[in-house]
Amino acid sequence: MEQIAENLESVRAKIADAAKKSGRSLADIELVAISKTHEAEKVRAALDAGQQVFGESRVQEARAKIPLLPSGVRWHFVGRLQKNKIRQALPLFELFHSVDSIELAREMNRIAEEEGVHPRVLLEVNVAGEGSKIGFALDFLRAEMETLLALPRLSIEGLMAIPPLAPEAEASRKYFSALRDARDQFAAQFQVKLQQLSMGMSGDFAVAIEEGATLVRVGTAIFGKRTPARLRQETITGSAD
Ligand SMILES: *Cc1c(COP(=O)(O)O)cnc(C)c1O
Repeated sequence: MEQIAENLESVRAKIADAAKKSGRSLADIELVAISKTHEAEKVRAALDAGQQVFGESRVQEARAKIPLLPSGVRWHFVGRLQKNKIRQALPLFELFHSVDSIELAREMNRIAEEEGVHPRVLLEVNVAGEGSKIGFALDFLRAEMETLLALPRLSIEGLMAIPPLAPEAEASRKYFSALRDARDQFAAQFQVKLQQLSMGMSGDFAVAIEEGATLVRVGTAIFGKRTPARLRQETITGSAD
């Protein structure tokens, strides 16, 4: 558990370096500690080391874990949200990073209306244009943005992306800058703020910050490896919920 405090310190130092290097204010960058697959005790160790925001990718797991921790902890949802889990998820999370289809957005809007809440959401973009990846294709999103912005219950605060896995952090840079460009274009075209850019994971969060990330989602570099490997794949794609 001491290791977690050390890891956090090291991640924070790297965040500070990247912010300095790119002339950005630390106040504009939030570290989201991705605690999926890790037990509540590890979250508590991170909390004790000053971390406040945590990310989960499965509703079932979060429902079990969140009650074990103090009520002031802030939780973000970063996985693939299934429509039949929306109602359970709404009260648990302060931000949904990964709205990845019109159908999901509509259904969230409908259930949020019934529940009397206004969820904050980000739209997940398929920046690499890979057929297998989840998220909105940019052209499609541009065409549908008006429709999404018109959903009265959703507070759309920005964009999120997961670039293809690569051994080199630099390989992600072009995807991060593409996401930022898309955000800038959409903000201008649709006269909205879209202030959040959720991008960067353990391997590439420094590069993401240089390219404008406001939320970095870091799991392994804080909590250590997730095992078994099978679980890791499932939690990234959300296929196991
Ligand atoms: C698991 C996960 C992360 C964290 O990945 P690490 O490489 O462990 O930092 C970030 N974002 C999403 C969407 C994830 O599912």
